[in-house]
Amino acid sequence: MSLDIDDENEFKLVLLGQSSVGKTCIVNYFILGQFDQSATPTLGATYASSQIDVNGKPISLQIWDTAGQERYKVLAPMYYRGSHAAILVYSISDPQSFYSEIDYWVNSLKEKTDGNVQLFLVGNKIDLRDNPDDSEVAQITEEEGQEKANSLGATFMETSAAKGIGIEELFNTVAKKCLENASK
Ligand code: GDP
Ligand code: MG
Repeated sequence: MSLDIDDENEFKLVLLGQSSVGKTCIVNYFILGQFDQSATPTLGATYASSQIDVNGKPISLQIWDTAGQERYKVLAPMYYRGSHAAILVYSISDPQSFYSEIDYWVNSLKEKTDGNVQLFLVGNKIDLRDNPDDSEVAQITEEEGQEKANSLGATFMETSAAKGIGIEELFNTVAKKCLENASK
């Protein structure tokens, strides 16, 4: 049997975070190249795979998109155990998704993995930044996100799945870091 991609060029990623922060839209934008307005709440978890090139090397990304709702939280370790990278997503316009849910997922990862999972912290929905409709709600600034990422030893990025901002860059960065880590 021959495979185009050997194991060392294949990385498993998992998206974690409160429901409705845009995890599914981020994955769909990456896979389909467009914003999927019709995305329905994820049940349990869904899987997608994609191949990208990093420095001329073909890399296969196996992406697990999890559901953030309480009743599915117990299932999440099945998806993040053995992952090379965890992409922790919050919405910049939903403070709870940042202040409470990110810590929940970081603690969950700490408890149930051996600490080998690389962390990425992603602030999604930056298209809503300074949106007058959202002005009553305090938004999470880029500086706050970066500080939090520093404290977690995570790589920080901001995205908008609605506008396609930062999505390619996110998966490229994840793939690059996974590759660097694997060759250590
Ligand atoms: P998930 O539960 O984390 O998977 O979130 P979804 O991907 O299902 O998205 C939840 C809601 O947020 C949907 O109504 C999306 O249309 C919306 N959404 C997702 N990404 C963005 C974004 O970047 N900007 C805006 N404005 N809305 C978004
Ligand atoms: Mg989802």
